[in-house]
Amino acid sequence: MKKIVLVKIGGSSITNINVVNSAKIEAISRLATEIKEGGKKFNVLLGHGGGSFPHVPAHKYKTGLGLINEKSHLGASLTQRSASELHSIVMQQLIKHDIPAFSFPPSASAIAKDRRIVKWDIEPIKKALDNGFMPVTYGDVVLDLKQGVCISPTEELFRYIASKLRPTQIIIGTDVDGVYTCDPKTSKEAKLIPLIDSNNINSVSADVGKLRKFNVTGGMGSKIRFLHNISVNMGTECIILNANKKNRLKDALMGKTVISTKIVA
Ligand code: ATP
Repeated sequence: MKKIVLVKIGGSSITNINVVNSAKIEAISRLATEIKEGGKKFNVLLGHGGGSFPHVPAHKYKTGLGLINEKSHLGASLTQRSASELHSIVMQQLIKHDIPAFSFPPSASAIAKDRRIVKWDIEPIKKALDNGFMPVTYGDVVLDLKQGVCISPTEELFRYIASKLRPTQIIIGTDVDGVYTCDPKTSKEAKLIPLIDSNNINSVSADVGKLRKFNVTGGMGSKIRFLHNISVNMGTECIILNANKKNRLKDALMGKTVISTKIVA
């Protein structure tokens, strides 16, 4: 069996982050081509963020905090629907590029406790890989044993999936070249950090900038902590790179050295 690689394309790469429910169709189409060409030697499992689709209702109704008031249920429904709307657009583009994409919405089958996935039957995902499909999942609302519902970002889904499937690599595509000493969008002084490991993880995550408006999945700081945790627990190498730059994702999949931040134990 081919080696498994988990690939995420971030909400900031596939949606216009400041325009509600606005998908970047061309970018999704280009990324589909890159995944198809670059991922030939692997079994790729794809995850994607929600950007300006679910982040907006999730922010409005504080879905990440759970069922906290009388509007929470409707808020969770709206968030779930927005996430699946973007997912449907992504699936459409993948299939248009002849990728045998197979959809796995976490809200339908995962259970969390305190925002951590504790139960998710990933046998169907395994079977999909065995049968030559590309499983596709996404950041979604998930039922939560403690708080009713929560938001599960793709990185949390990857943490759970990685513990079962032991991928060789996790690649996270976002809208900046990797992790910087501070937010590169707001500071010219920001310098790219090529490697994060146990020596610098604490200082790096302390320096990560503020969350973008509407972000409900924790931003760069939480990505770094999730990924470093996966590296420590499973030995998986993680890479954060700029999926907005043409061919960067494809080159990374092909094993070329690209501008990025590597996260290892
Ligand atoms: P998701 O789909 O999970 O929302 P995303 O790819 O849209 O993921 P964000 O969670 O918004 O990405 O994280 C990327 C953003 O983090 C960048 O656009 C950048 O402005 C911001 N950021 C803040 N601090 C840093 C830092 N130290 N290094 C890199 N980016 C940072």
